[in-house]
Amino acid sequence: MDELEAALQAEVLRFSERNGYIAEHFADARCECGSQRFTLHEEETQGCAIRVCTRCGVDHFIGDTEQVLSDCEGFTQRTCRCGAAELLILCAVALYDGSDDVRWLYVGAGCPVCRLVGVYVEWKVEGGDYRPFIAREGARREPPRHR
Ligand SMILES: [Zn+2]
Ligand SMILES: [Zn+2]
Repeated sequence: MDELEAALQAEVLRFSERNGYIAEHFADARCECGSQRFTLHEEETQGCAIRVCTRCGVDHFIGDTEQVLSDCEGFTQRTCRCGAAELLILCAVALYDGSDDVRWLYVGAGCPVCRLVGVYVEWKVEGGDYRPFIAREGARREPPRHR
């Protein structure tokens, strides 16, 4: 894990703790082509997001976005404050207490240019078992050690 990836995970975790649903499982977005640079498009009213690979152009519906697409009012592209559009994306999920079922999804992004990290969009998801859910979002990361 490089410095930007570590900072991004720390920020998503911090954000989730403040939100009350603590992120427990993480996946680094990775395209089929191997690239980890994406543009991010989201609609926060419904809670949906798409990432598009900047190398090969393949898009990916994040989380349950495909199922709720008809309720989305249109996507806004998110860029870093510095203006960079190519981002590193980390998805994380919180689970219901005593369960393996997904309750909340966080989409964090880090900027390879200025190193700013943040949670760009998050929403409630009845996502079922987190394992297949998180596997769809990319390469699974080891969860952070509990403090
Ligand atoms: Zn790609
Ligand atoms: Zn930036």
